[in-house]
Amino acid sequence: MILADHRISPTPPTLGAAERSLLDSTGGRSVVWCGRAATALYWAYRMVKLLAKTDCPEIIVPAISCATPAVCVPQAGCRVRFADVDPSTGMPTLATIRERWTPATRAVVFIHLYGQTGDLTELAAWCHEQGLLLIEDVAQAQGSRLPNGNPAGGVGDIGIYSFNRTKMLECGGGAMVVRTERVERAWQELAEQPQIEEIDTESFRELSLSQRNLYHSLVTLRKMVRLRKIRAAGSVVTAFTSVEDAYSGLTVRSLENPSVLADAWTGLDVVISERSAKAEIYSSKLAGGPWKLLDGWRTSGVCWRYALLFDFPEHATELTEAVRRDGFYVSNLYWPLNDLMRPADECPDAEEFARRVLNLWVDHTVDRDWVAACAESLQRNAARIGLHAR
Ligand SMILES: *Cc1c(COP(=O)(O)O)cnc(C)c1O
Repeated sequence: MILADHRISPTPPTLGAAERSLLDSTGGRSVVWCGRAATALYWAYRMVKLLAKTDCPEIIVPAISCATPAVCVPQAGCRVRFADVDPSTGMPTLATIRERWTPATRAVVFIHLYGQTGDLTELAAWCHEQGLLLIEDVAQAQGSRLPNGNPAGGVGDIGIYSFNRTKMLECGGGAMVVRTERVERAWQELAEQPQIEEIDTESFRELSLSQRNLYHSLVTLRKMVRLRKIRAAGSVVTAFTSVEDAYSGLTVRSLENPSVLADAWTGLDVVISERSAKAEIYSSKLAGGPWKLLDGWRTSGVCWRYALLFDFPEHATELTEAVRRDGFYVSNLYWPLNDLMRPADECPDAEEFARRVLNLWVDHTVDRDWVAACAESLQRNAARIGLHAR
């Protein structure tokens, strides 16, 4: 099926091959193509709500993530809870997820972060036992493999995909893969219900920019308080959550161009191997520096953003600014979302991870020479600041 021109209809023939490959690799029953992963997440949460025999079902999401998977939870009438992460990967574990379980818990979102994948065997068994839906977000790991060798997206009840800017395919779009009968029945019910009205493209752009700016502004305040550079930042939590409603128009989007997506689909293998070649350069040039290299991309086969954990988080800003002055962008994805949305769900390991992680580019905006020079800049500036491997 597809959400196009603001209504749900059968998948058009142009997407037939992509749909078959997605269903084959994940063991899915059906796909719903749409404009964004946010739309797919929102539908998944609406189905959690439909299936839940409680007023306000809780959904556990990882503390380390972009804001979207968490922001869509209240829009679907559910409550978001945040799981802490393994400080060496940034991804939650069965133990950190179980810590957030309450009798109202109805679903768990697992995000394969930066292209790394998690071993979901135990988590899936536990979710099954507890009657929880497992939602597998593959937006940063399309085409990857789990540690057991199976394709990512083939474990959860629902799989979430994004083909928008910065993701593996950047042609526009998103998808939801339904893998279980229970969810398929819920989808039939949900598809009959009226959909949120979509806003026009111009308003969508303006509103997205506003949301991004708000997020970054509040994250900066939060970090500065944590680092004791400023004393107070009012209530960041209410600042973020009280305007949530204003952004609800961003969530549901039609897929604009199915044939562009169909063309891009066939190029995924090339995208993956070019990214891996760049990750390989970082790995060899960054060996021995004052950081730990995350190598989960090797087992998963997919590098979305190359990531390293810096041994001297107190010097992170100094180092990244020096590297930026050399003309290279490095980023620091992400700040723990519990800190913006629900501080009561304390996630100390997520905070430690967020302070240490540096993300480097491997996408089509940079070539191999750039990657090599960026790695050299990191090494040179770290040495100049006087930082050596611990
Ligand atoms: C980017 C991203 C999303 C949202 O994707 P859109 O297509 O922009 O809605 C959701 N989940 C994760 C993990 C992402 O990285």
